[in-house]
Amino acid sequence: MALSSGGVFFKILVFLCFIRLSQGRNNSATLDLPPLRKASSFSEMQHDTYDYIIVGGGTSGCPLAATLSKKYKVLLLERGGSPYGNRNISYLENFHICLADESPNSPSQGFISTDGVINARARVLGGGTCINAGFYSRANQRFVQDAGWDEELVNQSYPWVEERVVHWPNIAPWQAALRDGLLEAGVSPYNGYSYDHISGTKVGGTIFDETGYRHTAADLLAAGNPANLRVLLHASVNKIIFEMSKGHRPSAIGVQFKDENGGDQQAFLIQKRRSEVIVSAGAIGSPQLLLISGIGPRSELTKHNISVVLHSEHVGKGMSDNPMNSVFIPTENPPKQSLIETVGITDDGVFIEASSGFSQTADSIHCHHGIMSAEIGQLSTIPPNQRSLEAVRKYVQNKNSLPKEVFHGGFILSKIDGPLSTGNLVLVDTDANSNPNVTFNYFKHPQDLRRCVYGIKTIERIMHTNTFSNFTPKGAQYPMEKLLNMSVTANINLIPKHTDDSTSFEQFCKDTVVTIWHYHGGCHVGKVVDQNYRVIGTSGLRVIDGSTFSRSPGTNPQATVMMMGRYMGVKILRERLGRAAGV
Ligand code: FAD
Repeated sequence: MALSSGGVFFKILVFLCFIRLSQGRNNSATLDLPPLRKASSFSEMQHDTYDYIIVGGGTSGCPLAATLSKKYKVLLLERGGSPYGNRNISYLENFHICLADESPNSPSQGFISTDGVINARARVLGGGTCINAGFYSRANQRFVQDAGWDEELVNQSYPWVEERVVHWPNIAPWQAALRDGLLEAGVSPYNGYSYDHISGTKVGGTIFDETGYRHTAADLLAAGNPANLRVLLHASVNKIIFEMSKGHRPSAIGVQFKDENGGDQQAFLIQKRRSEVIVSAGAIGSPQLLLISGIGPRSELTKHNISVVLHSEHVGKGMSDNPMNSVFIPTENPPKQSLIETVGITDDGVFIEASSGFSQTADSIHCHHGIMSAEIGQLSTIPPNQRSLEAVRKYVQNKNSLPKEVFHGGFILSKIDGPLSTGNLVLVDTDANSNPNVTFNYFKHPQDLRRCVYGIKTIERIMHTNTFSNFTPKGAQYPMEKLLNMSVTANINLIPKHTDDSTSFEQFCKDTVVTIWHYHGGCHVGKVVDQNYRVIGTSGLRVIDGSTFSRSPGTNPQATVMMMGRYMGVKILRERLGRAAGV
């Protein structure tokens, strides 16, 4: 009897766990996705042609493909694999492990900018939304107006994304402490739970649901018309094919790509005036693909023996990354894991965010530093032949000498908005899968440095608020100099450190700068593409993604990049069909 009631109890428990685990989880089985086929399968359908060929199934590429497929035949080519069934992508607690995966098929491809900052770019269907920290926050009205976007359509496009992939967080203790600390430090008013970009402190949305399961831009493909939408994985586009005829602009007519076996494939547009190749390969991938395909500064192209299709001086120029600096705060007990949920938006254009507790799960890599850690996203994602051996050795040595307690804690992060320092992207070779050389010139402009110092001072104020010091009695015991010292020692960029790093906030900023992965630019509006994202000087070719931005939207960009995919899809349909577009 006892056994049998125990069995019933056990079954109920399993059932309840199942309900909890399955809540809000749209996996490939429950979503009505189009088939996700390997690129080699394309040879069987070689004679097909498409109204739109989209290069890059990322943050903007997926919503764009889904929307265009409502009326037209779309081919979506993604160089990475499927996000479904990959636990490192799907679960918040594995955020760091995903970034640390350096296998050739990893969803994350590491690179080091020439500034010495370790960075990552996505290589998977769903793009950056599969490997990011999940925070969701819209752009402000000013950004929308400066972009020349139709505000009504923008206000329809954000909710289209939100109802499919965005959730409110169950706010974690570290994030709640930051929220209260920000308010006590004067970053006010409190704007509650909001997607809007408004001065003060707020809790934003997240693409992780209440069970910690990640919803990505790939899920948006379920909103498309499967009969019109063909998605190929491991399809790495290495050239846009142009028709060149005298007296006419170069016209994109198709693309050349490699399949998962290294086989060469070609796909072509339907011969209609309005068919297009749309490049949505991200801020690194899009300028890189234009250059490899012969669109860029003549001198840069000839250096790599690339035939010039169009001399376009600004391709790869104006690359920016929002510098981020972080202060590590030790705690008595390891705090619960959290990625960004709270943000302080200061009037000085400095955003304060936080992460915590990535050192204690069973799967965790020993002693790592959460969002900033070498193990999670940075040093270990880099193929060994690209690492500076000396830097790795020094890092390991420093880290081993740190007391274990310093790995129990969280970070407060300061990111500066709209950096005035910019850089560029140039090719290393003509392989679309290798990394180009990217330079961001962090803090070259004195105003960027001034704002970083303001951010670190704001963090110091938060540390000394009653709320925060009650929450972290251990961390609050440390003077700022000691906290900065710990943060410098744990920092994993390849920039040489100085003895005054913990006493000069300026030096701290310069020496410990890392990325929050919001890099953008390389195909700016008005320079490489026009207001409608058509590549200037060509026909049948657009670029639609974060490479077209000259500043990163909102506090964090993914909301606007996904919105932009939907927005441009609807806009293109309306341009062609008017009211009959019906979207
Ligand atoms: P992507 O989403 O990167 O899409 C480009 C796609 O094109 C990729 O899937 C790539 O594989 C594919 N591709 C590239 N080249 C080719 C080719 N030649 N052939 C075929 N396919 C190709 N933003 C937030 O708002 N909140 C956050 O919390 C946040 N955290 C982040 C954390 C990390 C670790 C990272 C990396 C980013 C984070 N971001 C965050 C930033 C945000 O995710 C990106 O800005 C955004 O996803 C970029 O979108 P995109 O469409 O421009 O590029």
